[in-house]
Amino acid sequence: MTRSRLRRAQGAVIGSAVGDALGAPFEFGPEGAFSARFPPRSGPHEDEMRGGGGWDPGEATDDTQMAVLVAESLLEHGGLEPADLFGRFQRWAAAEPKDIGLQTEDVLTGGLPWDQAAPIHFQVTGRAAGNGSLMRAATSAVYFAAHGTEGTMDAARRIAALTHGDRAAWEGTAVQHELIRRALGGGDPVSAVPEVLALVHPGHRERYATVLAPDWHPDPATEFNGAVWPCLGSAVWALRTTSSYEDAVRAAVDLGGDTDTVAAVTGALAGAVYGVDAIPERWTAPLHVPLPGFGGRVLRLPELTALAGRLAAQKAQEAQEAQEAQEAQGT
Ligand SMILES: [Mg+2]
Repeated sequence: MTRSRLRRAQGAVIGSAVGDALGAPFEFGPEGAFSARFPPRSGPHEDEMRGGGGWDPGEATDDTQMAVLVAESLLEHGGLEPADLFGRFQRWAAAEPKDIGLQTEDVLTGGLPWDQAAPIHFQVTGRAAGNGSLMRAATSAVYFAAHGTEGTMDAARRIAALTHGDRAAWEGTAVQHELIRRALGGGDPVSAVPEVLALVHPGHRERYATVLAPDWHPDPATEFNGAVWPCLGSAVWALRTTSSYEDAVRAAVDLGGDTDTVAAVTGALAGAVYGVDAIPERWTAPLHVPLPGFGGRVLRLPELTALAGRLAAQKAQEAQEAQEAQEAQGT
């Protein structure tokens, strides 16, 4: 694994967590609230990671907490064990985290087994296209990147399906994973959008094509960005219209609405593109991720950096082993 690839993997994981923590105090607020409080031209402001709305400065929310649970399950099992991951989500949800998506909470606390909870919830409510599976994508995207496009998008759909019964959520999460994968390899995710759209389930392609189009803007979105389509569209828009990690995440928070999640999704992409060195120290220093239900553990920058490294290394190692096995068979 090259150093730049590792820095991008760390950028995706830490970049998402930073976006989450930066956006959290502005959740459900109006457009432009971040820049009104911290005008870009008079900055940088040391207290941008300000906390508020029940969050301590630098405290990451459910988005990152769930992403860490995904990471630890993948690493412990050397791959996706859906029952184990669902159990970790349930344990976390039962410990009353400060925030949890309504739909995610229903699915995790309803007492149904891992392979029935989300489908039955969707069957009953008809509503499961929130951005809750998109928000936690950074860690699994890094982990599965070495498995190529198909392995990445397949894993993304299966992880999304644990909490979201609507295929729309699976497809958006699969797109996010593949865009991050392209960025980790040094590619430009924005220019990869048409290729990735071609891999979306045909029944869902048009709606994603709309929100990922170059001329789409978050403003005319008729849906609240807590839904999966405008959330992904907003993140790609923020990346497309800026030229640094910092500006992309700022643009995402300034959209208002579901700011922590839109900024977490944006931060994963922008972190993968620009690498961890592009993330300001004034944002990473106070960053911390509490893990309710897991012994009072709190992950800070060193733990997140190590976690990203393990996710990236494990995949690279597995892919290499698979290739070697294939070559051994061929001889
Ligand atoms: Mg959140």
